[in-house]
Amino acid sequence: MPGPYRRKKTHFGDTHLKRGWCTKRRTKDLDEIDKDIQPENAEKLLKQEVDFDRPGLAQFYCIHCARYFINSTALSDHFKTKVHKRRLKALELEPYSIEESERAAGKGNWKTADKRKIETQPSKDEESPNKRKKESVDEDSL
Ligand SMILES: [Zn+2]
Repeated sequence: MPGPYRRKKTHFGDTHLKRGWCTKRRTKDLDEIDKDIQPENAEKLLKQEVDFDRPGLAQFYCIHCARYFINSTALSDHFKTKVHKRRLKALELEPYSIEESERAAGKGNWKTADKRKIETQPSKDEESPNKRKKESVDEDSL
């Protein structure tokens, strides 16, 4: 399992290590989300059936973070948060694949993993062009 290295004889101050196998709030891994953001899957996830077991009846879903929100305000607030922007950044790099490992082992031509530009999913309610412009400025300043 990847992650920080565990020293011997540590009995405290290791919460950040234990979080790795804490499954209560576990969401999808980045390679699963990579499949989700393909247009044909994204369509389905963004227009889900009403599900009474999900927060907000599964109508407000952030595809990049694999999280449900209770209303459109919570969702658009989430788009402005650090966790979400960090997630977009993490998804920029293409996930590791068998093909990549074969290239690294000398089969075919080596090319580095592609960098993609990941955009926040379009919001459900109509946004004024003025507001959208402000958001892009915010992202640039990060
Ligand atoms: Zn998100």
